[in-house]
Formats: sequence, C-alpha cells, structure tokens
Amino acid sequence: MNLSEVQFGIREKAPVYKIELEKFNLSGVSLFIKRDDLIHPQISGNKWYKLKYNLIEAAAKDYNTLLTFGGAYSNHIYATAAAGAIAGFKTIGIIRGEEHLPLNHTLDFAVSKGMKIYYLNRGDYRKKNDPEFLNNLKNNFGNFYLVPEGGTNQLAVKGCEEIIQNINIEFDSIVVPVGTGGTISGIIKGLKNQNNKKAIGIVVLKNAGFLEQKVSELINGTTANKNSYNWEIIFDYHFGGYAKFNYVLLEFINEFKEKTDIQLDPVYTGKMMFGTFDLIRKGYFKSGSSILIIHTGGLQGIYGFKERFGEKLLNI
Ligand SMILES: *Cc1c(COP(=O)(O)O)cnc(C)c1O
Repeated sequence: MNLSEVQFGIREKAPVYKIELEKFNLSGVSLFIKRDDLIHPQISGNKWYKLKYNLIEAAAKDYNTLLTFGGAYSNHIYATAAAGAIAGFKTIGIIRGEEHLPLNHTLDFAVSKGMKIYYLNRGDYRKKNDPEFLNNLKNNFGNFYLVPEGGTNQLAVKGCEEIIQNINIEFDSIVVPVGTGGTISGIIKGLKNQNNKKAIGIVVLKNAGFLEQKVSELINGTTANKNSYNWEIIFDYHFGGYAKFNYVLLEFINEFKEKTDIQLDPVYTGKMMFGTFDLIRKGYFKSGSSILIIHTGGLQGIYGFKERFGEKLLNI
C-alpha cells in the first residue's frame, strides 16, 4: 500500500492568510491563519496529520482493520472513516454512549464510508486503554490496528510536527486548540531549536490540568523537561467544558465569519480564536509581534451542533 498525500487528495500546502481587522492596528500585532481546514473536504485539519503515520504503520504491519474510539460527533471518527476507506482499511468505530437513531450527521457519514459502529456505555468506555479490555475486543473483532481516542499517540505527534513545515511567513507565536494534546505536542516538537517562537494551546475542556504533564510526556518521551521548548497551555477559554458554549461564543463565531469569511466551529476553533482575541486585548502578545493561528478544521461538527441545538444558533 502506497500512502501519500497525493493518494488521499490532501492539499500539501494549506494557504496562510492575514486577518485584517481594525482592532489589530490598535494592539500592534499581526494575525495570520493557516487554513488546515481546507486541506481535504473530509480528512480535515489536524486529523490528517494525526492519522498519516498511523496509516503508514498499519499498512506496513499488514493490518487490514483500524479500530478507534470517539464520541458521537467526533471529528476523529469522521476523518478515520474517510481516510480508512481511501487507504483500503476496514474501520471499526467504538462510540461512547448509546445508539440514537436516526444516526447523526457524523456517524451517518462514517457508516457510509463502511465504518462499523458499536456503542459502549460510559463505564466500559473508560476502559478503552486497558490491555485486557483491548484483548477482548480482539477476540470479538479479530486483529486490528488500534488508533487511540482522538488519534493521539507518538505517531500522531510525529505527523503534527509537519503542520508547521513550509510556512512562508515570519511568526513569533503559534496558537492551536487543545483537546487530547497530540496536536500541540507535535507543533512544539516541530519548533525545536527555535526558542524565540512560542506555541500556545487553548484548552477546550474543563479540569484539564493533566494536559501539562501529558504534553510534556508526548514531547519528551517519559521525562518532563519543559525548559527545552517554549510553550504554554491556557485554561481560561473552555466555556464550561467540552462542547459547552454560550451565546457570547456563538456571537463571536458569527461575527468572525461575517468579517473574515472564515468559518469556525464551537467546539475547538471558535474557542481558540475567542481566546486569542481576548489575549490580544489583554496585552498577552508583545506589540509588533506576529501570531499564527492554526485552523484545525472540524467543521463537520457544525451539522451535529445544529441537529442538537437548532439551526438558529449558528447562521451558517
Ligand atoms: C481533534 C481536534 C482538536 C484537538 O486536537 P488534539 O490533538 O486532541 O489536542 C483541535 N481542533 C479540531 C478541529 C479537532 O477536531
């Protein structure tokens, strides 16, 4: 199996645009956005980078099935179903919670790509990393290549190092949303030896203090040596927790879309952009500095968001 960007139809160079808004003239910063949401219609944003070396590894080891875990609206499930189908893998998605019919947009798409969907109650779902539990899954499903929940493992980190390759603008800070921490870990590693550049992660979950340690481990293997890299995780913009939101956030997403024509999602990129604007307002970034935002994609989630909360919430 020959797995390359070309085979998947991945656009190798995501466009980088300057965001021109009057308020930045006042604060003296320049803001750029790398549109990784545009690299593929289905395997969008960071999920391509996270899957890439896992797919290569699975193919090299002659697996024919990928198994992974996710929530019912998961961008990762969506991307894995799409990428698995293109690469010729069978895919199995283990979904947290109960079955709801008709299937939501995300799961309906996954099934249309051939993914077999199974549901686990929240208690059992917590065992998703237990070796014994995974062995039982193998007894049920046959042998499979395991892609962990959210796709985060060392191969995902390796792929995410490539997010910041070939960027032809100068930047001082790079901002990315943080869920499991895989994406920012790759970016931090990719910035190695460029200590003048700082990676900033905006966390989208509540009570996520564990992420500092987790990111340290993902960067360094087992030893947490924060000093050799320049990064910070910011916990102030989760809006109540994962996939929680309020009208301030939705208004912000709508206004941003009106002014820039760039769509953000309420789970990840909306919170990141809101946080970035707030940090700019508070003077977190030095005047004259240049900030690069990574649009990590995830726009498929908006359909599920509308299904749950009504069309009127987001005028998209
Ligand atoms: C999954 C996802 C993230 C979080 O990435 P992690 O590697 O889990 O931190 C950020 N943005 C979007 C759009 C995502 O789908």
